[in-house]
Order: sequence, then C-alpha cells, then structure tokens
Amino acid sequence: MTDRYASFVQSAAGRALVKRLGLPDPPRLRRHQPGDPLLPGPALLGAATGGRLAEPVAKILTAAGVELADQAATTPQRYGALLFDATGITDSTDLRQLYDFFHPQARSVLPSGRVIVLGTPPSECPTPREATAQRALEGLVRSIGKEFGRGTTAQLVYVTRADTGTLTSLESTLRFLLSGRSAYVSGQAIRVGAGAASAPADWDRPLDGQVVLVTGAARGIGAALARVLARDGAQVVALDIPAAGDALAAVANDIGGTAVQLDLTAPDAPTRLADHLAGRQGRVDVVVHNAGITRDKTLGRMDADRWDQVIDVNLSSQERINDVLLERGLIPAGGRIVAVSSIAGIAGNRGQTNYATSKAGVIGLVDSLAPALREREISVNAVAPGFIETRLTARIPLVVREAGRRMNSLAQGGLPVDVAETIGWLAWPASGAVSGNVVRVCGQSLLGA
Ligand code: NAD
Repeated sequence: MTDRYASFVQSAAGRALVKRLGLPDPPRLRRHQPGDPLLPGPALLGAATGGRLAEPVAKILTAAGVELADQAATTPQRYGALLFDATGITDSTDLRQLYDFFHPQARSVLPSGRVIVLGTPPSECPTPREATAQRALEGLVRSIGKEFGRGTTAQLVYVTRADTGTLTSLESTLRFLLSGRSAYVSGQAIRVGAGAASAPADWDRPLDGQVVLVTGAARGIGAALARVLARDGAQVVALDIPAAGDALAAVANDIGGTAVQLDLTAPDAPTRLADHLAGRQGRVDVVVHNAGITRDKTLGRMDADRWDQVIDVNLSSQERINDVLLERGLIPAGGRIVAVSSIAGIAGNRGQTNYATSKAGVIGLVDSLAPALREREISVNAVAPGFIETRLTARIPLVVREAGRRMNSLAQGGLPVDVAETIGWLAWPASGAVSGNVVRVCGQSLLGA
C-alpha cells in the first residue's frame, strides 16, 4: 500500500504546504541496498572518561569502512553518525558528559543519520549509583530519537562485561544499526550479552549457507522476509497454508527456495514439518515464526472461535513447533529462533484482546526460552512491528489509519522490508550474543512507549 501523503510532501507544492501549515513532515528514509556504505558521512565517536568500548568500537568502525571524524577539529562538519561510549559513567553527576558531547552536535547529523549510545546493563553494575546512571541513558536516547528529526534514529546498546562472542555480536549490531537496514528502528534499548557468535566471510552475505524457515511467507512481511534472507545468502524454506499455494510457489521460485504448504494449526503440523526438514536439509539453522492472523472484536462481542484461532496461530503453534524441532535436535548449536510479536502485545489495543494476548505471549516465549536455550547456543528474540504498510493495515478505516501511520518519530508507516531486515540481523550467525531481546520496528511509535 502506498502512503500518498508522504509522496506529496516530497514535491515542491507539498514542501511549501507542510512548512506553512506545520503539517507532519515524513522524511524519505535511507534503506539498505547491497554494496552501500554503512553511513552517508563520517562518524564522530566520543567516550566518557574510563569507558571500555571506545577502542573496540573504533576498530569495528574502521574495519567496516567508516571514516572516523576528528573530535578536536574546529571547522563544523556534518556527520553520518554520532556514537558515544557511556560505559565510563558510574554516577549521575557523570551524565553531564553526555550533554557536553551531544549538545554541540545537535544540528550536525545528516538526514537518516544515526545516534548510538553504548552502556553497561544496569543489572551488571556493581553499585546502585552506577546502575542508576546507566538506566538514565534510556531517557536521553529516546528523547534524541524524538528531537533530531529528518530520519535520524537513536538507540542504546547495553553491552555485557563478559566477553564471549560479544565483540562479534557488537559488530553485527553496529553494522545493522548504522546501515539503512535499521531505517524504521528507533528508540530501542538492545542488549548484547555473552554467547558464541561467528563473523561472516562477507558482511554483504551474512546468512551464507544458513537454512532458514519462514512461516507465513506467501505475502506481506513473510514474503519480504523470504526475499531479504535469500538476498543475504540463506537457503529459504517458505511455508504457508495450502490456500496460499500459488503465491507461496511464486515467492519460493523467485528466490530459489523451497515451498511447504502446511496449516500450522493442524495437529500433525509439527511432525510433518520436522520430517520435511530432516529429509531435505537435515537441519534448520533459523526458525522465523512470522505467520499471524487477526480476528478483531471487542471482548464482549468476541465469540470463542475468534479467541481460539488467534491464540492458536499466533502463539500455541509456535510453541508446538519449537518443542518438536528442539526435541528432534533439528536446530543445531548456533541456531536462531525469531518470533514476530507486535506493539499491540506491548500496549494492548481496543478490539484486539485476543491478538494482544497472543503477541504478549510471544514476548513471554522469548523471555522464558532464551535463558533455557543459552546452553545449547541457540538465541531467541522477537521483533514487535508497529504500523507496517501491508494488506492488514490497509483494511484499517482511513482516520484511524492516518493516526497510526503518523504517531511515531518518523511520521510514516514502515515497510515489510524494514521488519525483514531487523529479523535478518537477529538471524545472522554473527548475532549469537544478541538473545532475549524484543526489538520494536515501529519508528518509535507513541503506542506502548
Ligand atoms: P499477512 O496477513 O499479510 O500475512 C500472514 C501470512 O501468514 C499469510 O500469508 C497467511 O496465509 C499466513 N498464515 C496465517 N495462518 C496460517 C497458518 N495457520 N498456517 C500457515 N500460515 C498461515 O500479515 P502481515 O501483515 O504480513 O503480518 C505478518 C506478521 O507480522 C504477523 O504475525 C502479524 O501479526 C505481524 N504484525 C504485522 C503488523 C502490520 O502492520 N502489518 C504489525 C504488527 C505485527
């Protein structure tokens, strides 16, 4: 579906009207194209006194071809990104160092620029004062996301002090966040923990050789996912219901993947799927639970069938499939499970008690499964999309649709590819130390903020 207003504001007449009437001004977002540089300009890297990450981050950026600007330069410059290592902040009085770094640069970020603050997870801080100061970083980052405008996004990355696999996963996370892959992700606090991770031979094909299952792949976000993951090197197994067989075959043929027609709610679906994967590929490195349905009604008007169908497709079927694939050892060490939640699962939504319950359950699944699977080196994460331009959101009445579309820091809906790129990053072998996260792909929506 197209956002006609966003196209109009890019025209000369549109620009004039937006200025005169103070209307929402959705910027054109920078989106990833293979071969693109990570940033549209140099990065400025600052650090609080005593920080532990500035040096490794400088190395990562240089290796990724990012030009590092000289902080002492006197001529004003425009930057593709501002990064600040805040791990040296151990007391609230140290927070002033954030002001000193960001205040002079507030107008120096290029369109679709990036702001990234690196911190220590408050739960790992040795003193209450340090934990307090580290928690304070979230407020700064979320406000910058709302203030800087012109497609700039802002994120906080909490990096564990333990170091197994962390630096590779920090590299994968920085590469994702700096690039156009994260166009519609803003205001997030992402945790990079300890866990095995392996860097790809080629960062343009970060999923080379990986077998990836995508459910609900015939259309919408699932179809975009299949294409993005295949572009990044994955061997895609695309699954959808038999009624969507033609569309599914078209997607699978297009990307050189295989198609599986299966209703996920069928009692024998988990074993049939496991048999298929065992027989064909012998394993599945990445499972993406994307299939989902809505059956909206306010609770008082909702029949039990609507409740049951939504919980079954969006949540219970994921649990049953995980159980069988894990029991049969089909997800090897280094495996990934990525589930699609929704901001409705965070904020709740009128007319969607069934859907919001199922999507909050998906977050519970991540919270409970991620620690349980750490030993097996399998990561579990979720993405929570906000307003994404698909058939699902095209059905929303016009006024509600316009409100949903504009009520975020980027003043526009996201595209299926934005969700796909985020899932791709969580699926990369290089992201092994990113587990237990729920990353919103919502342009920093005000819903559930
Ligand atoms: P969509 O309706 O376009 O696609 C969903 C796909 O899942 C369809 O191809 C459908 O056939 C398939 N599916 C449904 N039930 C199935 C079953 N029992 N077995 C196998 N396949 C089944 O939806 P979408 O907008 O692409 O959404 C994809 C996911 O993203 C869903 O989980 C949805 O809840 C979530 N989401 C979407 C948005 C949005 O704005 N579009 C926002 C938040 C979350």
